[in-house]
Amino acid sequence: MISKDNIFEGPPEQKPGPASDEALLEPLSELAELREESPLRIGVHVSSAGHIYESVDRAVIYGCDCMQIFSRSPRSWRAKKIAEDEAAEFCKRRQHAGIEPVVVHIPYLINLCSPDPQLHSKSTDEFAADLRRAALLEANYLVSHVGSHRGAGEAVGLSQISTALREILTQDRSDVLVLLENTAGSANSLGHSFQQLQAIIEAVDMPDRLGICFDTAHAFEAGYDLATREGLEKTLADLSHWVGIEHLKVIHANDSKTALNSHSDRHEHIGRGQIGLEGFRNIVNHPFLRGLPFILETPLDEQGGYEVDLRVLRSLRKRT
Ligand SMILES: [Zn+2]
Ligand SMILES: [Zn+2]
Repeated sequence: MISKDNIFEGPPEQKPGPASDEALLEPLSELAELREESPLRIGVHVSSAGHIYESVDRAVIYGCDCMQIFSRSPRSWRAKKIAEDEAAEFCKRRQHAGIEPVVVHIPYLINLCSPDPQLHSKSTDEFAADLRRAALLEANYLVSHVGSHRGAGEAVGLSQISTALREILTQDRSDVLVLLENTAGSANSLGHSFQQLQAIIEAVDMPDRLGICFDTAHAFEAGYDLATREGLEKTLADLSHWVGIEHLKVIHANDSKTALNSHSDRHEHIGRGQIGLEGFRNIVNHPFLRGLPFILETPLDEQGGYEVDLRVLRSLRKRT
């Protein structure tokens, strides 16, 4: 789950602020126009380095309809406080840009499944703090991986996270929805099947505060074959059966570098991985999915960055 080699979920180390490179800006302004034509709600995970409100400016440069950020460093327990005036500026800029929804991703160190009482308790406190930060930013969703049972077994892990979420959500007064993200299922990580996600939702028993975020790369790596139409239908039938399609709120649109059922989390540019262009054409046009926000967590490498994937994903959407 919390794979070190997954560079895509970290705040991409990409050009913060307005890009000075003209060659980059030109295709981006084209993207903003494409947004006008396309009913697809699409955005990217942007860096929140500097003042947190600058993340909105980065999303605007990409012509995003929606966005995702970390509200603090994803690999450290230390969190810089978000000042109220910074949060207000974030909300102002976001509103002005018409960005909807705003998704906050939980840091990687948090592990609500942990069988270690100390780590479990620390994770619970930090998760609650992140939920308050998300509320301060008026974010719609807080996305979290399920976590790792560290060898204690699935039943222990699911029980640990359910207890923690129930405690956190009972005490929280905000209306931020927590979304459990499906994972690739590496090592002892949980949340790689819809059945596991449903077990948590059922145990927490607060359906209006808990939903799911569907990561296409993670699903493929966990064994859901999104490369074919039949595979997509089967996956969505499984999702409907266990979780209920109404609990699905956000799609993380990422292709996968690794094979079906590899349990290895490596994101790839849309259409260049194992899910492929046809797979994504089916995904963005599926009636169950087409109205949902799509967030890219694709790599920045020699093939390009988000500008490439935004263009590809928008071009796959059929006009209605
Ligand atoms: Zn994630
Ligand atoms: Zn993801």
